[in-house]
Amino acid sequence: MSDIGWKFMSDGDWILLSKVVWCIFIVGWGIIRYRPNRQARKVKIGKTSRTLKERFSMAISFSGLGIVPAIWVFSGYFEQFNYSVNPVLILIGAVLILVALRLFRITHKALGAMWSHSLDLREDHKLVTKGIYEKVRHPMYSAFWLWALAQAFLLPNLLAGFAGLVGFGTLYFLRVGQEETMMEDEFGEQYRDYSARTKRIIPGIY
Ligand code: SAH
Repeated sequence: MSDIGWKFMSDGDWILLSKVVWCIFIVGWGIIRYRPNRQARKVKIGKTSRTLKERFSMAISFSGLGIVPAIWVFSGYFEQFNYSVNPVLILIGAVLILVALRLFRITHKALGAMWSHSLDLREDHKLVTKGIYEKVRHPMYSAFWLWALAQAFLLPNLLAGFAGLVGFGTLYFLRVGQEETMMEDEFGEQYRDYSARTKRIIPGIY
């Protein structure tokens, strides 16, 4: 870090800051999810596609975004995977994680009670294609990708940092095709038209 010249904080301070930002993010994310979770649970699930593969990928994702970084943040484990602190990377991570938080809020507001943490269709499920859903088909997964990327920048530990990309990446690639098939089976032409005019994660690109 000394070659960058940010000497007003020691490496230990920067590591502590990265851990504090991560904790603030997790609490903020929990707060954002609390109400939509309660609201959505009031609406019955009409159909579900929760397969064993889906449960497995949710567990991997939860470990990579939550458990592995939490172990590093709160205990002395994995410290052998720490790398030298670079404040610029930590600050980029902090900014990205705040953007992710904002995007979570926007997507939850747009999806409302149609949200589910797994592959479910609510009774009388409506296809949301407005607001942020006009830009991409999976803005909540965009927010998760941002979270995973932010984690890699923010936490100066190879294991805790990159676990999110591996964990969420596994969930994303195992789930997204299945989710789109489920939506197409339910909404037919309407979903095919919607897919034809939107990308998955990055507006206009991917
Ligand atoms: N893939 C979306 C939603 C994630 S939540 C995103 O990334 O923003 C997962 C649930 O949302 C799925 O079970 C599905 O029922 C529901 N869902 C996904 N896309 C939807 C849409 N455009 N309109 C309504 N519900 C949708």
